Amino acid sequence: MAKMITRKEFLKAIGCGATALFWASTGFGFPGKENQKYKSIKGEIFTGDAPERPWRWSKEGFYYETVGDTVQCQVCPNQCVLEPGDRSICRSKVNIGGKLYSLAYGNPCSAHVDPIEKKPLYHFYPRSLIFSIATTGCNFRCLNCQNWEISQKKPEEVRFFELFPEDVVRETKKRDIPSIAYTYSEPITYYEYMYDTAKLARNAGLKNVMVSNGYINHEPLLKLCQYLDGANVNLKSFEDDIYRSLNGGTLEPVLNTFKTMHREGVWFEMTTLVVPTYVDKPEMIKRMCGWILKELGPDHPLHFIRFHPNYKLTRLPYTPIDTLEQFREIALKAGIHYVYIGNVPGHEGAHTYCHNCNKLLIKRTGYYMPDFNIEEGRCKFCGTLIPGRWT
Ligand code: SF4
Repeated sequence: MAKMITRKEFLKAIGCGATALFWASTGFGFPGKENQKYKSIKGEIFTGDAPERPWRWSKEGFYYETVGDTVQCQVCPNQCVLEPGDRSICRSKVNIGGKLYSLAYGNPCSAHVDPIEKKPLYHFYPRSLIFSIATTGCNFRCLNCQNWEISQKKPEEVRFFELFPEDVVRETKKRDIPSIAYTYSEPITYYEYMYDTAKLARNAGLKNVMVSNGYINHEPLLKLCQYLDGANVNLKSFEDDIYRSLNGGTLEPVLNTFKTMHREGVWFEMTTLVVPTYVDKPEMIKRMCGWILKELGPDHPLHFIRFHPNYKLTRLPYTPIDTLEQFREIALKAGIHYVYIGNVPGHEGAHTYCHNCNKLLIKRTGYYMPDFNIEEGRCKFCGTLIPGRWT
């Protein structure tokens, strides 16, 4: 059962800085010059081109093919073809002597304790905490990336900590936290690390959550689904052209990911960042909602998130709140039961209303939830089963 925390505990963990608490309580200390453990890791960081040998934080790829000395990664639709010494699109993989290695294994550059709502996941053990890790790397090139300082870097270009899968599980258990998130950058690019950690975590009674762009091939996804409990997957738009120009990917593989997760019984929620001039056409949102209803049904929550100008799109304005409200209305009218507005503090679109009686089930003020009217997965007022994972 997910661990519920009190408001006081929550504020202590979040208001005082989850990161600070995490580092202070791990014994690793804060990342910095004075940290001996960090110093020793820094001493081994490679610089320059691809390492000539597997380094300490490497793992042979789980999905790749070879022709002579050339390798082709099969984890995501980019299917990188690499000659010896070449680096992959996601910057995490190299061909070393005719074998494919991930250099992102046991070396997360981010490790935090987050509220589950931050992912965002609103119907997955609400009010619980989640141990969240990321290495560098991404298989997309989103112009609006919010984590480009880690997603667009090589593993050896950032500061990191040594946390192998068993360490991640141990540190999570030690804090009595019920789940682990693979998040912040793109976990598909550290697939081997995520998979091994998720398997150990499941055996230790923990839950696994992936926060992802969903750009992954069928076979690795299917294998991962065995150990995945929850996910938030971006549905960045519903146009192939926009996926190509804004994100550097394509739409179809992402749709396939949703269908596979739905079939495999993984709980997931969808996120669409509403980027002005790219993702702002009501007609496209109508088509998107039609597809969701037909292929996935009405129960998977959809989050429309407000865009903040950053990275390569600082010329664009914030998403008008009217646009977010209009999209939410379109999705609700189409029949999707739970549609949220994110990144707009205090907006009523962040609350959960029963899809049957429309009464307020969860009131959200940031990550604080003063009203909580779901009991054993049912609406407290009309008894309707609320889709999600509750206890
Ligand atoms: S996971 Fe990385 S190396 Fe593998 S195909 Fe995708 S981008 Fe290329």
